[in-house]
Amino acid sequence: MEAEIICVGTELLLGDIVNTNAQYLSQQLAMLGISVMHQHVVGDNAHRLRELVRQAMQRSQLLIFSGGLGPTADDLTKETVAQAFGDPLHFDEEEWAKITAHFARTHRPITENNRKQAMVPTHGHKLVNDRGTAPGCWFENETCCAALMPGVPHEMKAMWQLQVLPVLLKKQNCALHSMTLRVLGGESQIESQVSDLLANANPTAAIYCKTGECEIRITAKAADDAAAQAMCRDYSKNFYSRLGTSIYDADVPGLEYTVVHALQQRGLTVATAESLTGGTVAQRLTAVPGASSVLGFGYVTYSEKAKQQLLGVPAEIIERYNVVSAPVAARMALGAKQASGADIAVSLTGLAGPDGGTEQLPLGTVYVGAAMGNRVWVKHLTLGYRGREIVRQRSAVQALDMVRRLALGLEIPEARCFAADTPAQEQVF
Ligand code: ATP
Ligand code: MG
Repeated sequence: MEAEIICVGTELLLGDIVNTNAQYLSQQLAMLGISVMHQHVVGDNAHRLRELVRQAMQRSQLLIFSGGLGPTADDLTKETVAQAFGDPLHFDEEEWAKITAHFARTHRPITENNRKQAMVPTHGHKLVNDRGTAPGCWFENETCCAALMPGVPHEMKAMWQLQVLPVLLKKQNCALHSMTLRVLGGESQIESQVSDLLANANPTAAIYCKTGECEIRITAKAADDAAAQAMCRDYSKNFYSRLGTSIYDADVPGLEYTVVHALQQRGLTVATAESLTGGTVAQRLTAVPGASSVLGFGYVTYSEKAKQQLLGVPAEIIERYNVVSAPVAARMALGAKQASGADIAVSLTGLAGPDGGTEQLPLGTVYVGAAMGNRVWVKHLTLGYRGREIVRQRSAVQALDMVRRLALGLEIPEARCFAADTPAQEQVF
């Protein structure tokens, strides 16, 4: 099947808005194995739109439209395409009721031209818009189909996913399944390890970057869902063999979910002792339903006094080695473990900026500690300074990952491990 994407709107031609809908639709069609032969942008002009639709219908089997479904006179996509397909529009009471209810809810007066939005195809069918007022349309004849969707991106995407994609999958006689791998690390580092795997036709794989981690989304097309699922699973093995335990999970909302589940599975509890993150780690863990079974104590010890009073970090160690140091991170973790009675305690101390960096201790210097059994691990991070919040978020990710690795008995890369009673001077690094 060959397709054309037609985006309608003078603002697009003027360069007032970026045509993100075309990019999204092209990616979606590529995933379906449907070749996009042309992408068009056309202004709100009946003559030019009519001419374009006439040509496109002659050479392609699928036309995907976005924009021009609104109530005003310059919104004319529906009328033009209906005419080209010879499909008369009729007034749909159900859509009209939805539109009037929407106006009543938002206390806006409804006008006569809004009735235009309730007009739907007679031979084709409407596409329900659960994010806005204007329904979309599906037109079809022996040689060509057309889907008309609103221009507003989130409305268009919802309609595509819920209304158009299922019809196309059925026409293609196939199903799609997606799987999202969650990976710790930066995009460029991960991408360099898997770049060849990202250039596959089916399953496709794409990488999306977030703070301190990335998502790899694998999507397979197959005859049915079970087969597509199996293809995703098989293809994911390539990523696991390259990236190992830096892939922390698949199809979870975030690292904190994996950590809470890992602790629950092993029957372990955790406590947090946070300085630079001010409670972020505890906040992320407690966002997971059922976290109370694994987390009872979260210490926010922002001042030196708090570190001494709540965690028993000796004042002379802070003074001698600096509050941002490996011995302090170690003692914070050990102190939190002791005070809470948790199986694992994790600690963070560091410089989030924007002030306070020195040559020896530049901004973005962070020590993450973790205590379990009679050992303590410390990891020294040099995150550089790209803003206070980035430093804090990336540190929290590292702390959560240390808990995950301890819970699952995995190695902690780049961390030093000490016996709990190691003297402070031997822990400096
Ligand atoms: P409405 O009923 O809201 O008028 P519509 O279907 O008529 O919707 P347009 O008027 O064409 O859609 O576009 C509404 C808004 O959606 C635009 O102002 C723009 O912000 C956004 N938009 C439209 N087309 C695109 C596009 N191709 N890519 C990205 N954004 C778009
Ligand atoms: Mg409009």
